[in-house]
Amino acid sequence: MKKKIKKIVIKVGSSLIANYKTGSPKLNWMNSFINDLDYLLKKKIKIIIVSSGAIAIGRKKIGFLKKKLNLDEQQAAASVGQIYLVNNYKKAFNKKRVEISQVLLTLEDTIKKEKKVNAKKTLNKLLEKRIVPIINENDTVATDEIKFGDNDRLSARVAEIIKSDLLILLSDVSGLYDKDPKKSKKAKLIKEVKSINKFTIKAASFTNNHFARGGMKTKIMAAKIATNAGCGMVIVNGNTKKIIQKIFEEEEGTYFHPKKRKKNN
Ligand code: GLU
Repeated sequence: MKKKIKKIVIKVGSSLIANYKTGSPKLNWMNSFINDLDYLLKKKIKIIIVSSGAIAIGRKKIGFLKKKLNLDEQQAAASVGQIYLVNNYKKAFNKKRVEISQVLLTLEDTIKKEKKVNAKKTLNKLLEKRIVPIINENDTVATDEIKFGDNDRLSARVAEIIKSDLLILLSDVSGLYDKDPKKSKKAKLIKEVKSINKFTIKAASFTNNHFARGGMKTKIMAAKIATNAGCGMVIVNGNTKKIIQKIFEEEEGTYFHPKKRKKNN
C-alpha cells in the first residue's frame, strides 16, 4: 500500500459528518479531518472527497427531525442539507487556502459511457488545478442509491474512472472482523484481504453497523469495484485521531489489495 500513491479518493460516512438524531453537524470532526489532510497535501497527493451527510444535516433544517423519512422527504432533506454540507467543507478548506468544488453524480453517471467520460474529464481538470472536488450522490434523482445509501459504491466508481491508487472508506467501524466482535472477545480485525471470497462476505455480515445506511455489504461491493480496477481500498474508523496519517505510517483498518490494472483500463 505504501507504494507511490498519487491520487486518493476518501469517502466520508454520514455518522462522521452529523449527529443523525439531532441533525447537528460535527464541525470539530470536520476541522480535524481537514487538518489531517495536510499530510497528503504536503506530499502533493491529489484528493477527491465523496461525502455523505446531506440528509443527516438537512432533516433538521427542513423540520423532519422526529420522523422516519420517505424517499421524497429524504431527497428534499438532502437538497437543503447539501448546501450546509459543502459550506462546512468550504470554511474548513479555506483555512488551508485550498479551493474546493461541488460535484453531484449518480451511480449511473459513472457507468454509462458518455456521462462517465464527462465526469472523468471534469474531475481530472479539477485535480490538475489542485482543487479538491467534494462529491455526493445527486439525491434528487438517485432513487435506487438513496435507498441503498450508497456513496460506498459511488466512491469506488469514482476511484475507477480517475484511476485512483487508493480508496479510503472513513466509517464508524474499524474494519472487518473474523468473528462477531459483539459476541466474541476473541474477534480479531482482519488486517488485509488479498481476494474477496466467501470468508470475506461472512466477515462482512459480522461487522454490520445498523446505523449506517450501506453497512458492510456496500463496502464489500465497493472493494470489488475498486480492487478490480487496480485501486487498493482500506476501511478505517474515521473517529481515530490523525487517521489519514496513521493509514500510511501504521497498520490501520482492513486493507484490500488491488488487482493488476488492465492495460486498457
Ligand atoms: N447521499 C446521502 C447524503 O448525503 C447519503 C448516502 C450514503 O450514506 O451513502 O445524505
